[in-house]
Amino acid sequence: MGVSGIMTSNSIDDHSINRKPEIVIVGGSLAGLFAGVALKTHGYNTTLLERTPLSMFHNQGAGLRTTRDLIGFFRRYERTGKPITVPCSKRPYINRKGDVFHQDPIRENMASWAHCYYLMRANYDHTSSPHVPRSDLPEERPTDGKVTYRHSCTVTHIIEEGSKVRVYYKRKRNDRFEGTESILADLVIGADGASSKIRQILEPSIVRTYTGYLAFRGTVPEAEVSEAALAVFREQMCFYHGPSIQYVSYPIVGENGNTEPGHRLFNFVWYANFAEGTAELDKIMTDKHGRKRHVTIPPGMMSQDARTLMKHKADTTLPPQMAELVHKTKAPFVQCITDVISPKNLYMNDKVVLIGDALVGLRPHVSQGTNLAARSATALVDWLDGTISRKKFVTQIMSRARLMQARSMRLGHSSQFEKLPVEQYIADRNAALAKGMDEVCPAWAFEGIDDI
Ligand SMILES: Cc1cc2nc3c(=O)[nH]c(=O)nc-3n(C[C@H](O)[C@H](O)[C@H](O)COP(=O)(O)OP(=O)(O)OC[C@H]3O[C@@H](n4cnc5c(N)ncnc54)[C@H](O)[C@@H]3O)c2cc1C
Repeated sequence: MGVSGIMTSNSIDDHSINRKPEIVIVGGSLAGLFAGVALKTHGYNTTLLERTPLSMFHNQGAGLRTTRDLIGFFRRYERTGKPITVPCSKRPYINRKGDVFHQDPIRENMASWAHCYYLMRANYDHTSSPHVPRSDLPEERPTDGKVTYRHSCTVTHIIEEGSKVRVYYKRKRNDRFEGTESILADLVIGADGASSKIRQILEPSIVRTYTGYLAFRGTVPEAEVSEAALAVFREQMCFYHGPSIQYVSYPIVGENGNTEPGHRLFNFVWYANFAEGTAELDKIMTDKHGRKRHVTIPPGMMSQDARTLMKHKADTTLPPQMAELVHKTKAPFVQCITDVISPKNLYMNDKVVLIGDALVGLRPHVSQGTNLAARSATALVDWLDGTISRKKFVTQIMSRARLMQARSMRLGHSSQFEKLPVEQYIADRNAALAKGMDEVCPAWAFEGIDDI
């Protein structure tokens, strides 16, 4: 397949006339923006449809542990040149009293969801933010593809129309739906998250399932924590394992992208078990306006009752430094931990591709969701450009997605539902995180891939 082709038949591999495909991206969070930025750089025209009513998201996530996939993506495509991570040099484990009883040397780099998001918006549609002021916006290149970013657009359906796909979406203005619009695409990228509408249309029998535990999350500015907390959190990825509890904290990029020591944030992820159907889970998943939510309570939306429950649980189950972060975070949020994976990443004769959480919603224990999304975006343009084959694109992404899902399920299940000695958790984590992007996937991860 050549760099500049047109889709003249049902397959991208068949295109021949001198035109690049028109691409529609569904979902404007990290996976969608990674795809958008990579495609733009390679000269592809894209339209991104995002359902959120605001033109910019407001801090939806917190910390991200990076791997070479994400770092490699930023090296290849990010044009502002701003630093994206802060370092961590130790992985201490503390006991319930807050004393360090084990420590591993590490070389990790931690990013933040917000910083990655704002950098990607600057690179994709030239949108400025406190992270990238107007004066720092990157240059546009004559070879860039055209980009269109449309918010308030909820995709409801896709239908194959010959060699193209028609994408239907509802557009909202001033909080009211204005009706349904549609757009014709050569290629549709489903980057609409773990509850993906695109995946539901293509694979109606695949469901996203709750695992029986959730993550309380939040951030606290470095300058606001006690000396005791600084001692275990500063440039460290600190863990606690208790009965049905796992808690990790690490520093991330601070306000407006500040990476300087003293101006960073401490990010925490605290996994705690809440069985489906219980009153406690119901309380946590009801937001401050009384609305029941299924998977996420976004920052600033937890009810007072849920915050009280969370703080009480922190005081009675966590080491003091970790409970301190729970008390001090101003906008805690909740994410139910779920499992979902699609059997394939290509559909409709290669005119629809799933990436990011729409393809595989990983449990966070392997810190791979964003990293895999970045790798998928890079592999996708390489395939479209003809640098790698279709087979390689499919094999690379699907085998990795399957392996990471199995690993994340095992790590999550053992920490939340099995009572193992803490040394076992440490050994399992070291083994899982030591493996890099070049790890060879086991044979079972390739089964049936030739049929995709
Ligand atoms: C607790 C936790 C910790 C994590 N830590 C890490 C980590 O350390 N490292 C790492 O690599 N990853 C981590 N992840 C994973 C990471 O957050 C995601 O995998 C990554 O951000 C990719 O998300 P996404 O863009 O695919 O999906 P999402 O962020 O869910 O975005 C989907 C987008 O699609 C939009 N959308 C949905 N439906 C429609 C529709 N019908 N029409 C239009 N738009 C639609 C949504 O509004 C949203 O903007 C973590 C996740 C969790 C929960």
